Amino acid sequence: MEKFILAIDAGTTSSRAIIFNHKGETKGIAQHEFTQHFPKESWVEHDGLEIWETQLLAINEVLEKTDIKSEQIQAMGITNQRETTLIWDRKTGKPVHNAIVWQDRRTASICESLKKQGKEKPFYEKTGLLLDAYFSGTKIKWILDQDPKLREAAEHGELAFGTVDSWLIWNLTKGKVHVTDVTNASRTLLFNIHTLQWDDELLGTLDIPKALLPKVVSSSEEVGLTDSSWFNHPIPIAGIAGDQQAALFGQMCISPGDVKNTYGTGCFCIMNTGDTPVISKNKMLTTIGYQINGKVSYALEGSVFIAGAVIQWLRDQLGMISDASEIEALAKTVENNGGITFIPALAGLGAPYWDPHATGSILGITRGTQKGHIARAALEAIALRVREIVIEMQKDANTTFKSLKVDGGASNNNLLMQIQADLLETEVIRPQTTETTALGAAFFAGLATGYWDSIESLAEIWAVDQKFSPNPNADTQKTIRLWDKRIVKLNNQEVPNE
Ligand code: ADP
Repeated sequence: MEKFILAIDAGTTSSRAIIFNHKGETKGIAQHEFTQHFPKESWVEHDGLEIWETQLLAINEVLEKTDIKSEQIQAMGITNQRETTLIWDRKTGKPVHNAIVWQDRRTASICESLKKQGKEKPFYEKTGLLLDAYFSGTKIKWILDQDPKLREAAEHGELAFGTVDSWLIWNLTKGKVHVTDVTNASRTLLFNIHTLQWDDELLGTLDIPKALLPKVVSSSEEVGLTDSSWFNHPIPIAGIAGDQQAALFGQMCISPGDVKNTYGTGCFCIMNTGDTPVISKNKMLTTIGYQINGKVSYALEGSVFIAGAVIQWLRDQLGMISDASEIEALAKTVENNGGITFIPALAGLGAPYWDPHATGSILGITRGTQKGHIARAALEAIALRVREIVIEMQKDANTTFKSLKVDGGASNNNLLMQIQADLLETEVIRPQTTETTALGAAFFAGLATGYWDSIESLAEIWAVDQKFSPNPNADTQKTIRLWDKRIVKLNNQEVPNE
């Protein structure tokens, strides 16, 4: 009987289930979207029960579609939208509030006031994170602050907190298992990434009872079995990781200096820094990449808020193209950027600038400027922002990266990938499986259950689609010089370490 691994990819907009075979090939995918709730400006919520129901549906559907029996699933791995916060009643299994999604900014004022009290330092030192509404800690506090009865129930151990991984495992095991893994824990603002423990001081600062919290497990170990009522046969749950960390592993970034970048609406860049947690000088986040057999691999993370979104803007606001994929052909109508620099600060600038007030601009326009030049400069802008992050990470980690592994929607753009290779003077590698997040979760589960016997055997099945080598004749110096000059002028501040 052939065996498979099932990956659950619990994303921000949909619940997905994907089956992989021994070669890491996709046997089938099922996906169900769920409702996004926007109760107020800057608030984003999900219905926890809808997340669970759509996930269950996706799992059953992929099994049916592929005609694979639950007995053939050796193990299940879970990857999830990170930071999204749920609290539920341990007895009834019902959430006490809608899930507060990572994008939700309602707790920005809690963060501001904590910063004013000088509380950011212990959070940064212990968790590697900045005090920001993005992370779970202040979201938990906000829910408990709504009703004194909730905090009392939490103190008495009647409620449970979890990110989406915990919530799904709780439901899959019918309340038998309440766990999260180190990567998800490392995004809560409550977990000391050095001691690998929930931190009493930080819990105290946020007034969060410890009795709420799940047990923290590694990313690759068997934590329980699915209740036999769900799928004829109980399936071991054996892998858990937040989406970006799962992608890091799914891209086989397993040595210090290995980096992956996801090109979506924004960019998520993560570098493996090995067994040392590197504290960044440039406000990159320090996080846990994964933990296998007790050994933790740390990572540095930097995000670009606006990447593929620049292409959306050219499409929707300027009508320059009608589909994102047309940008490549348009950019190829010209030989170079014609002196244009596109500063993509359409929603402020993230690391290493951290200027929430920065705005975008297109500089260097002359009478000879064509649409193609702007298209090319827009692609260069994405690659230049990624370059800045990767270079700063490299300095922080005191390591040199050998190549950049890529995924996400915009990584299909060959010209963008070539520009990236030229600007970094490093090889850019695009894998065959673009489902790197789900693949990472499958790898964790398969490793824990002997489906794959070693990390080395995973590296062997990880297959390349295309490599982009830097063109030694590429004239990138002028582009970089102009960018540095113009972005500095725009932000009226120095480019760090230049
Ligand atoms: P997300 O997961 O953030 O929704 P995806 O990984 O699905 O993002 O990628 C979609 C983003 O990639 C969009 O912002 C889109 O503009 C951009 N994109 C898609 N195809 C291309 C392309 N060929 N060239 C450049 N950008 C692209």
